[in-house]
This record gives sequence, structure tokens and C-alpha cells, in this order.
Amino acid sequence: MRTPIVAGNWKMNLGMDEAVQLAQDIADGAPENGVKLIVAPVSVHLASVTEALATSPVLLSSQNMHWADSGAYTGEVSGPMLRELAVRYVILGHSERRQYFGESDEEINRKVLSALDQELRPIVCFGESLSDREAKRTEAKVEFQVRAALAGLSAEQAQKVILAYEPIWAIGTGKTASPQQAQQVHRFLRGVLKERFDVETAQTVPILYGGSVKPHNFDTLITQDDIDGGLVGGASLKADSFLELARIAGNI
Ligand code: PEP
Repeated sequence: MRTPIVAGNWKMNLGMDEAVQLAQDIADGAPENGVKLIVAPVSVHLASVTEALATSPVLLSSQNMHWADSGAYTGEVSGPMLRELAVRYVILGHSERRQYFGESDEEINRKVLSALDQELRPIVCFGESLSDREAKRTEAKVEFQVRAALAGLSAEQAQKVILAYEPIWAIGTGKTASPQQAQQVHRFLRGVLKERFDVETAQTVPILYGGSVKPHNFDTLITQDDIDGGLVGGASLKADSFLELARIAGNI
């Protein structure tokens, strides 16, 4: 049995006070239903949010990191720096980072390896564009991205990774993959993990769905066999909708 996960990617949103308030509201309202809740504020708010979550089971993620531990990388944040702030997870390879900051599969792989070295659990994002889907290249695309992100990992390391399937055409657009479309990709990925690693890894790695997840569409997604939770953008910015997703994930 894989633990359901609801992870909120706050992206470049919220002022400091708003971020702390949201974290407190989520901590106060978090249901005790066995669902793992993770929030990912911007880097400059991590220290304050970590304080707000200190006595709560809600866990903290970064939205990115550099692969080097330190050095001449202006504007970047390293794994050891995140660890100092009690960060436990790091989102890597989000499509917005691939698209706007030119992150390559190779860079994402370096970051995944570095995160694991720092005992940070990577939440590795990947997904096809609309043109990939229309050209029936969805499986080829996600398989390539996942194999590239996990290159050089042992099965033991891979079992620490969380995968997040996020079709690009569904992110922030209000268009969600249908439960059947998402399940098909998640099932396919378990096959890829089995082939690349082993059965245990394929069964252990949580695979989240992301792309316009909202309380009204989450129940039909989360009840699919191979969907273990959601990586949520817009609906994670309000405590009410995020906590509703947490309750839905606990009802399966
Ligand atoms: C995301 O950014 O990871 C995401 C899925 O955003 P949204 O839920 O807003 O589509």
C-alpha cells in the first residue's frame, strides 16, 4: 500500500505573511487521515514556513535546487542549504522550469542524484505537450523523461523518488486529463519502473497526477489504481481547497 500524497506547489505566489498564514491554516486544518501533506513555498519563504509548520505533520518542499553543494552559482540554492531549513522534498523538472529556464533532462538527473545524496526526496515532474499527445507520442515522451531523470540510480535510491505525471496541456489551463487518460500513463510508468529496476520499485514509487487538480475532479483521479495523489498548483493556494483535496485523498 502506498501512502496517498497531496503536494502543493505554490510557485512564485504569496507574500511572506500570506505564505505563513496559509501554512498555519493548513497545519491547523490538516486531517489525521494518513494522507501525507507537502507544501512548496518559494525559497525565500522556506525559513518562515518551516517555523509555522514546526509542530505539524505537514512537510516542506523546495520548488528547485542546484546540484552543487556550494560555489559560484549566482541566484541558486543548494541541497545542504535546504536541509538546514528542515526541507524534506524538492520538486525537480517541473515543466515551467524546463520551458522558461531551459532545464534539460541531464540537469534534472544531476539534481535528482544530488538531492538523494542530501537525503532530500525528489518529486520528479514530467509530461507530454499537446502536440506530443496528438501525435500519439505520450508514452515515448514520458518514458524518455523518466528514464533520463532516474539515470544512474539504484533501485534503493529510486524507491525514495516521487514521480509526478503532469501533462503540460493540463497545467494551469483548467483542462484535466481524464481519470482513464491519467491512469493509462501511470500504469505504463509502473511497467517502465519494473523494467528499469524491479517489481518492488514499481510497486513502491508513488506516482502523483498534476494538472488542474481541483476538489471537484480529484475523487475520480485518486481512485484510479496507479494514481497515488496530486501535485497541485492553483488549488493549493487556498487552505480550504487544499484541505478538501487532503480529505478526498483520505477517503479512498
Ligand atoms: C503544477 O504547477 O504542478 C500544477 C499542476 O498546477 P495547476 O494545479 O494549477 O494546474
